[in-house]
Amino acid sequence: MTTCYECPRNCGADRTSGLGFCGCGKEIEICRASKHFWEEPCVSGENGSGTVFFCGCNLGCVFCQNHQISRKLTGKTSPVHCFSQTDFCELLLFLQQTGVENINLVTPTHFTEEIAKALKTVRPKLSIPVIWNSSGYEKPETLKKLDGLVDVFLPDLKFFSKKNAAAFSSAPDYFSVAVKAIAEMHRQQPKTVLENGRIKQGVLIRHLVLPGMTVESIKILHCIAEKFPQTPVSVMCQYYPAGRAKEFPPLDRKLKYLEYSLVKKQAKKLGLTGYFQETDSATSVYTPDFSDNGLLDLFFSPR
Ligand code: SF4
Repeated sequence: MTTCYECPRNCGADRTSGLGFCGCGKEIEICRASKHFWEEPCVSGENGSGTVFFCGCNLGCVFCQNHQISRKLTGKTSPVHCFSQTDFCELLLFLQQTGVENINLVTPTHFTEEIAKALKTVRPKLSIPVIWNSSGYEKPETLKKLDGLVDVFLPDLKFFSKKNAAAFSSAPDYFSVAVKAIAEMHRQQPKTVLENGRIKQGVLIRHLVLPGMTVESIKILHCIAEKFPQTPVSVMCQYYPAGRAKEFPPLDRKLKYLEYSLVKKQAKKLGLTGYFQETDSATSVYTPDFSDNGLLDLFFSPR
């Protein structure tokens, strides 16, 4: 961690004394852990997904719906908790005890090394799947640290063009990097396994359709059909202008019904299977309340 090259930003930051682009030091930082019911049905199941929301982010999209915790920019948030390896393992076991369907690690990339170390210890005690829920802006060599430790990969595939990736995430290489990362995820979990409608293993690619960018979405779907044809896809329409989106037209508006319909139709034409959201999902109602730490108070209370 004295020179961090964990992700494609390659900051080389000394995270023992400062912060890199991701905004985090060496300790695992978490601001919320909760039962989450608004993921895909195969992830939320009946009992909810055991989400762990990490602070910071190595991608930093201007429209981030979790901007209060990913950029630590605005809004009232619950306090950030730094977790030791031992406490992090205990948190995962605690979540399992609450009856959740899985452990869902949200935006974990910049803590990969620490999480992998913890999972090596705790994985044998977890009887539910571990989900890696990431932006896709990851290095294959970093993801290799998770080999045998993660059951389900839930990567985004966000931008196709270098121009948009540069403008909205300061990451012109996003697409080529994310495709290589997803290929590594496939190497680790090549087969999608569903039991009673719950995902147990595999890769599920998420794509959020952005306003004014249907051409971009269709190019992404073509790439998925060509490179990862058997992979289920979640095509999402829950976009609303969050974070700094108002400063970046056309991201300053919601998605139009016709835009989503066009992308959905193309996905079906390409034979992609998976999930399509209802068009009334574009609201902050489905974004967790980050002023509330969820189950963390209960976790820290004497038992
Ligand atoms: S994980 Fe953070 S500090 Fe390390 S290279 Fe990526 S952005 Fe930089």
